[in-house]
Amino acid sequence: MKLAVDLHSHSGYAGGVGQIELRSVSATMKLKGIDVFGTGDCLYPPRTEELKTELIEIEEGLFSLSNDSSRFLLQTEVIFSTKLAHYKNKTVAHHIILFPDFSSIEKMQKLMQKWQMKNTIGRPFIVSNSQPELEDQLFQIAEIHPLIEIIPAHVMTPDGILGSKNNLTEICEFYGNFQPKIHCIETGLSADPAMLEKIPDLVNLTFISNSDCHSAALNRIGREFTILNVENTNYPAIISALRNNDVELTTEFNPAEGRYFVTGHRANRTGHECELIFAQNPPTDLRCPICGKLMNLGVQQRCLQLRDENIIPKPRKFKHLIPLVEVIANSIGVKSVSSPKVLKTFRQIMEVFPSEIALWQSDSVQVLLDKRVEQKTINRILAVQRGDFRFDPPGYDGVYGNLKIS
Ligand SMILES: [Zn+2]
Ligand SMILES: [Zn+2]
Repeated sequence: MKLAVDLHSHSGYAGGVGQIELRSVSATMKLKGIDVFGTGDCLYPPRTEELKTELIEIEEGLFSLSNDSSRFLLQTEVIFSTKLAHYKNKTVAHHIILFPDFSSIEKMQKLMQKWQMKNTIGRPFIVSNSQPELEDQLFQIAEIHPLIEIIPAHVMTPDGILGSKNNLTEICEFYGNFQPKIHCIETGLSADPAMLEKIPDLVNLTFISNSDCHSAALNRIGREFTILNVENTNYPAIISALRNNDVELTTEFNPAEGRYFVTGHRANRTGHECELIFAQNPPTDLRCPICGKLMNLGVQQRCLQLRDENIIPKPRKFKHLIPLVEVIANSIGVKSVSSPKVLKTFRQIMEVFPSEIALWQSDSVQVLLDKRVEQKTINRILAVQRGDFRFDPPGYDGVYGNLKIS
């Protein structure tokens, strides 16, 4: 059976956002068609208490609110930071951790206490002084329960395991003997399977996509998600699908939308009158020829550095998508995805389709929406279904790519 999952999110405790009610999360999940959603921040004690109070275990390892069909899975993000030999700077890599039950979370909280790690924010740090110490920490976490899953998050962002800040050439430099326990990676908003499939370290791993959202908004939850083939709707079946690459499909941002897709500098930096974008071949020292400051190496170019073109990649099904409210906003020419006109059209579409995922998978969009919503909106939806959209210019130096739907 197919299950749409979004296994990486954050609560209000991860900073920068207000509280997010699980009820509103559940309402958005239903509109989007997400079956199972990672709770976010489940390690942070006040959040653990909140989840314990509000959620009921409904299937092994899956939880729901009372009288509600949406399923939640216990999930957090942890930042591992360590000092690797031969690297001047610390290596920092974000990871998703999935837990089968609350008792495993308590055991992990105790480990963090024992290691004297502060657990005072939604997304905590686990710091070590060397690779062997990090490896030992990872093994101790995995030993809490055989179904705990540790997943490198958004691997190509500057804070991802393969990101340009870390500049690792092989992930074993970080994981050491723990590497066989890494089964799965998150592609992140900045990369898609096509960019990652020829990177030697990733060839045999499962790729998943998640929203990493900090809000219950319609353009955040499920903005990236994964459809798994599972035997049952429960936690062990989800973990088994992740470990065995039983992925039907990942849906991805077009990576060119991401804020660091190519190398360049924004126009409004000191010393700049105009923007500077390197679609190809940025200067090897990454010095900006206009202001002389260092540029971030774009994700696209970082992937090219890591790829081995001789590799024959595994077949991986994926699709580039744009959240429906953004497509509607683009079609009627408004900026805000929460404007009344956008939401009205969204509701009209949801009267016809059971969820947004069902809309994207339908081959009867024209017939079913004909005369119910404006034809220009239908045309944009069909264009996105066909993949007829691009980002021009692509994202660079913190600026998102500029959407153009043909
Ligand atoms: Zn992260
Ligand atoms: Zn510059």
